[in-house]
Amino acid sequence: MTSTLLRGRTLSFVRWPQTIDDHSAWRYEEDGGLLIRDGRIVAAGAYTQVEKQAGEGAKKIDHRPHLLLPGFIDAHVHFPQMQVIASYGAELLDWLNTYTFPEETKFANAQHGRRIARLFLDEMVRHGTTTVAAYCSVHKASAEAFFAESHDRNMLNIAGKVMMDRNAPDGVLDTPQSGYDDSKALIREWHGKGRQHYAITPRFAITSSPQQMEMAGALCREHPDLHMQTHLSENHAEIALTQDLYPRSRDYTDVYEHYGLLGKKSLFGHCIHLSEREADALSETGSVAVFCPTSNLFLGSGLFDYQRFRHREKPIRIAAATDVGGGTNYSMLRTMDEGYKVIALNGEKLNPFQSFWQITRGNAEALSVADKIGTLDEGTDADIVVLDARATPAMRLRMETVETLAQELFLLQTLGDDRAVREVYVAGRAAKTDLAI
Ligand SMILES: [Zn+2]
Repeated sequence: MTSTLLRGRTLSFVRWPQTIDDHSAWRYEEDGGLLIRDGRIVAAGAYTQVEKQAGEGAKKIDHRPHLLLPGFIDAHVHFPQMQVIASYGAELLDWLNTYTFPEETKFANAQHGRRIARLFLDEMVRHGTTTVAAYCSVHKASAEAFFAESHDRNMLNIAGKVMMDRNAPDGVLDTPQSGYDDSKALIREWHGKGRQHYAITPRFAITSSPQQMEMAGALCREHPDLHMQTHLSENHAEIALTQDLYPRSRDYTDVYEHYGLLGKKSLFGHCIHLSEREADALSETGSVAVFCPTSNLFLGSGLFDYQRFRHREKPIRIAAATDVGGGTNYSMLRTMDEGYKVIALNGEKLNPFQSFWQITRGNAEALSVADKIGTLDEGTDADIVVLDARATPAMRLRMETVETLAQELFLLQTLGDDRAVREVYVAGRAAKTDLAI
């Protein structure tokens, strides 16, 4: 049996780091080893110890002096929006109508979907992201293209066909029945195939009729083990329109609550303008609020209240994400740099260990997949990113004055991007490629 032995500075989290000195919250090896067999990490620790278990034929790869971390996880991203990212001058609803919906109509063409799915996963991996929770377009073929590409690469990804049956052009609409039937067929074909996970994906309350919400609720009841992903409370115009469309709901969150869409595997993108009642409802059901800082700043939506959600009496589970193409960068390093600034505007600081916890183990816990990914623990899948804190001249110069791991991580977050990603392993296989458009 062939095995691979990676050597480098390994960092993996055990739990949320309370402070910058909370050393028992992570495991760091200055000279670490990871032994990989059949796509899994079978031994992790000090290199000299791990090497003893490697046996004769192990392929040795020395990544010193770089850092080895669990592959990054992006908890909310739209794969059909690679040609929407960097579109000028609109807030959410105009942005959807002007740029996003017309672009997503192109995914009726299966060949276009396959091309973008390939380029999208290339780009994610190039940025060190090994798992995403992705929205496809409304077209069944777009989800088929995404899953086929993901399965070929043996990536653990979560995705779903968007359900939307109103308030958008005909080319991106389904019906309550076809949305249900297509989701059902995709679940049958893809959920649990290799590392693929299906997410029931009503886009948001504005583009789903009450009849479609009923169908989304039915899918959640019939498949309680599946993820559900949607958008919630992103900007004021969206909230007002939602209240008009669902006049009997107490608030925006209540729309989803009414149809049974809250729960431990429910992912709500944005959650910027939640009332205390809504925050309580998310907390009590174990639902996840997804922080998308580059998108929230770009569209001028508002500031996610990360620390309040963590510290309130009824805390909310949080994930972090790019939200490309509303988001402006594929990199989780860039994302947490902007996240740090959003949190700073709310008067708090996120320390670098907390940041790197969030985009690895934290996101894995929020997505309920921490038994498989998000750490370098023995028995988990070997999804690994190799980071170089001296990747650019400016980073090299700044590194001359860096003395601690915390400082190095903060430098990676503040100045780093895809250039800092030296290699990426997906289920133990080196997977970094350059875009071949
Ligand atoms: Zn989104």
